[in-house]
Amino acid sequence: MESVKRTAVVTGASRGIGRAIALRLAKDGAFVVVNYNGSEESAAETVKQIEAAGGQAEAVRCDVSDFEAAEAFFKDVAERHGRIDILVNNAGITRDGLLMRMTEEDFDQVLRVNLKGAFNCIRHVSRQMLKQRSGRIISISSVSGVMGNPGQANYCASKAGIIGLTKSAARELASRGITVNAVAPGFVDTDMTRVLSDEVRERATAQIPLGYFGKPEDIASAVSFLASEAAGYITGQVLCVDGGMAM
Ligand code: NAP
Repeated sequence: MESVKRTAVVTGASRGIGRAIALRLAKDGAFVVVNYNGSEESAAETVKQIEAAGGQAEAVRCDVSDFEAAEAFFKDVAERHGRIDILVNNAGITRDGLLMRMTEEDFDQVLRVNLKGAFNCIRHVSRQMLKQRSGRIISISSVSGVMGNPGQANYCASKAGIIGLTKSAARELASRGITVNAVAPGFVDTDMTRVLSDEVRERATAQIPLGYFGKPEDIASAVSFLASEAAGYITGQVLCVDGGMAM
């Protein structure tokens, strides 16, 4: 019997880590819904790269921080594809600044996209996964959420929040065959870290036992494993992919 093609949704897959995860899951055989918010052309480029490698994908815009828009997005994907097997909560932003100077807007916006966005997606995908009695949910946290980082109180709070959200969802959904895990990357070369000054980059590298920044593909490998059949007995975990930073 031919096995059913899995459907994966990757949020924020227009660039960086999200794009690498989308490419990897497509290579693993899934149809990938490449979610984006602002970067339409980059999302189309992700789809193009997947198709060029022999995979299948589509780009769909949705601001994951919007509860109702996320509900409509998952309803539409479930109706058109009949199933959603994998959700990767990857969309994320930074608005760095020292605590004493951080504006309320910068705090709220980071929490809204990074944490509430992940909640919105888990909340709305769970309806379909509960019906299927199967699913894999993987959220991208950060070592900053485990260790803290000066200048990133909002970001670290959102990433630590993802860990609590992951563990609660894992406990709630386990009896229905749904696993929920988090991946916590260290420093990875993407647009998000390209803005760091040479001095900050040097200081960051000095904290990494392996001595270098990771690649988006390093994170994609961990997500691919957690989304696979082989990881069926793993739930509620936080897998640090960080060159040894948070050991
Ligand atoms: P990036 O290159 O800046 O890409 C961020 C992605 O998130 C983009 O595709 C962006 O899409 C999407 N996004 C932002 N707001 C969104 C929204 N409201 N709705 C839907 N999509 C949205 O970042 P990255 O470095 O690849 O990071 C990916 C994830 O890994 C983030 O959660 C980040 O916090 C985490 N992480 C990164 C590092 C690192 O060193 N790079 C380390 C630890 C954790 P549009 O451009 O289309 O809006």
